[in-house]
Amino acid sequence: MVHFTCDLCGKDLHTNGERRFVVKIEAFPGFDPTELTEDDLDDDPMEAVAQILKRDEAMAADIDTDKPQGFRFDLCPSCHGKFIKDPLGRDALRSFDFSKN
Ligand SMILES: [Zn+2]
Repeated sequence: MVHFTCDLCGKDLHTNGERRFVVKIEAFPGFDPTELTEDDLDDDPMEAVAQILKRDEAMAADIDTDKPQGFRFDLCPSCHGKFIKDPLGRDALRSFDFSKN
């Protein structure tokens, strides 16, 4: 049997019969809509967008640091509740800034 622990607090999610929440985060470079050229606009707009996205993916593949980054976390109900309230941890960052002053 697969063993799950909460990636935030380390709580064992199997033995406690706790519900498990999966969080998936994907980060990738966005594309600039102003990069559309006249040629792109001649075609079907959806096709043009698809081409831009494909070009964007190709560019992303070239630059290692800009590669799409996928993250997957298993969370216990308590940590899941905290996560959905503040997915980017902005509250934590803010309090960190305050503590420096
Ligand atoms: Zn947890």
